[in-house]
Amino acid sequence: MEKVISGIRPTGNLHLGNYFGAVKSFLQMQNDYDCMFFIADWHSLTTHPTPENIRQSVRTIFCEYLACGIAPEKAPIYVQSDVKPVLELYLYLNMNAYLGELERVTSFKEKARTQPDNVNAGLLTYPTLMAADVLAHKADKVPVGKDQEQNMEMMRLFARRFNRIYNVDFFKEPQSYHFYKNAVKVPGLDGTGKMGKSNGNCIYLCDDEATIRKKVMKAVTDSGPTQLNQEKPEVIQNLFTLMELVSTKETYDYFDEKYNQMTIRYGDMKKQLAVDINAFCAPIRERILAFQSDEQYIQKVARQGAERASESAAKTLSEVRQIIGFRA
Ligand code: AMP
Repeated sequence: MEKVISGIRPTGNLHLGNYFGAVKSFLQMQNDYDCMFFIADWHSLTTHPTPENIRQSVRTIFCEYLACGIAPEKAPIYVQSDVKPVLELYLYLNMNAYLGELERVTSFKEKARTQPDNVNAGLLTYPTLMAADVLAHKADKVPVGKDQEQNMEMMRLFARRFNRIYNVDFFKEPQSYHFYKNAVKVPGLDGTGKMGKSNGNCIYLCDDEATIRKKVMKAVTDSGPTQLNQEKPEVIQNLFTLMELVSTKETYDYFDEKYNQMTIRYGDMKKQLAVDINAFCAPIRERILAFQSDEQYIQKVARQGAERASESAAKTLSEVRQIIGFRA
């Protein structure tokens, strides 16, 4: 079975956009591939989080991904900083990564522009750490968003370069797995654009019923259709897109018909949407709460994940050391 490694950025609570845009694909992938998921806490140091930030966001990811259905017995979840052999590979890869090419990476240039007071070496070598995370397990595929494509090209370049320098056929070039091409773009509730943390328009999987209702009832609408079978403007289409994700086909068709007949009452539609979003989130929310109060289980999953990943990375590193000329 092909090996898949996926890094998760510890950026807080999951929202419906994350679920339908990424997590749902992960749930499928864990059945189709030999998958491992890791929480990229070393990478997060580039923005200087506090120890409490780190602890909190790592826990949140564990609880929320498990609650969504990631099954650690099939697809181990581990914390990046628990797998030390990756650091050694990071060092070796850095020796053959050149300043010019690292400085040309778009996400580095972007960060250097947006955080000019903190253009640290970790930011510059983000692509080598990402390459080490994946090459340490000789993974075949990496699920990535569009923004990671350049980092994937760097990873393949580092793999080829290592093979060339040492005249070996050791690292294979991991391929990008573009899961987002099949994923839905989940709209926000504010009329335009997609649901996203920085847009402040999210419904989080952990939101309670009252919060969900309040958010949905506040969603932007217009003054209603003025012609039969009129094309829906974006603000209205967004509500229908959300409904398509969480409601039954009958419910969707009912409101679609009302819209086409110009008899729709957005208040009714939003009430129904809130009920259906809550019905979707409630079981996940309950599992999140259950995992949050079961620290021991989370610790066990993290430990077992770290063991599996460390074993795989240690094997690769022993071979790498020999190739380079060190003791295995
Ligand atoms: P972020 O929380 O913004 O780092 O997003 C993590 C991943 O979730 C992204 O790479 C996307 O695959 C997915 N995602 C985030 N927001 C949306 C959205 N509104 N619609 C679809 N997918 C999304």
